[in-house]
Amino acid sequence: MSLLVFGSVAFDDVRTPSGSRERVLGGSATYFAWSSATLVATDLVAIVGRDFPDGFLRELRDRGIGLSGLVRAAAQDTFYWKGSYGEDLNVARTDAVHLNVLATWKPQVPAELRAAPFVFLANDSPQNQLHALDQIARPRLVLCDTRDLWIQQDRPGLQEVLRRTDGVALNDAEARQLTGERNLLRAARRLHELGSRIAIIKKGEHGAFLSAEGRGYALPAYPIEDVVDPTGAGDSFAGGFMGHLALVGSTSWFQLKQAMLAGTITASFCVEDFSLGRMKMLTRDAFDARYDEFRAYLSP
Ligand code: AMP
Repeated sequence: MSLLVFGSVAFDDVRTPSGSRERVLGGSATYFAWSSATLVATDLVAIVGRDFPDGFLRELRDRGIGLSGLVRAAAQDTFYWKGSYGEDLNVARTDAVHLNVLATWKPQVPAELRAAPFVFLANDSPQNQLHALDQIARPRLVLCDTRDLWIQQDRPGLQEVLRRTDGVALNDAEARQLTGERNLLRAARRLHELGSRIAIIKKGEHGAFLSAEGRGYALPAYPIEDVVDPTGAGDSFAGGFMGHLALVGSTSWFQLKQAMLAGTITASFCVEDFSLGRMKMLTRDAFDARYDEFRAYLSP
């Protein structure tokens, strides 16, 4: 079944202990779609600016990502994010954000994409997430993401997003910031109270936790010796997670747990290089091989 992602496409400046890169391809929807497209047909609804290179568009198209919902603004620049990481790679610091095209955009979902059964609302303003959601007819499963900026700037909008979607995927710091709960089990419970039937809390190199249907499931991260850049790991996790569910066409508890494995694997590729560097070599075969290796690693 097909998958639709709505979110940001960005220029990123990133600094980690391994080095730095400027104006590389980033954005929540970019990382998500790049990951999910390994498993299932994925359409992207997003906006870029006048400064966005045709070469980046070609890379997305060559990956098989549907771009009929990607708009180019004639008079504004692409969303820009500058972030850095210290020795603790689980903590991203936002050094600058220029909303540019995202500040005034009202997303339009093309008619042919409005029946998408699986939808992910990746990071973008809650108002834009709601505007996109309004145009999608009865999706089977909608998950969403958010981050510190939107929790600070538009909590009421975000709470409406949570009420109107089936689930949320957040990192542990965002879950704590949003719920005010330090303990992750309590934070998951609070997310359920806020309307998320499915709550996924990602903990970087410490793995991820799923809470749904009154049950919990915890998975470690795939062990990576040289984490180069964790940017986009959360979106890549979500791309693998939703990609798996769309591939099998099921949201059963068993498949939600399998989807946690798929998300863990796609995220592990993401962190091995800056931007989409390693992900460009992520084929279905490479995914399957690491998936099998991870299953072996998990069995006692
Ligand atoms: P992650 O590391 O998974 O949280 O995702 C980082 C990506 O999200 C980067 O490529 C950024 O361009 C993008 N991003 C950062 N802040 C925002 C924001 N406020 N809204 C939308 N996208 C963002």
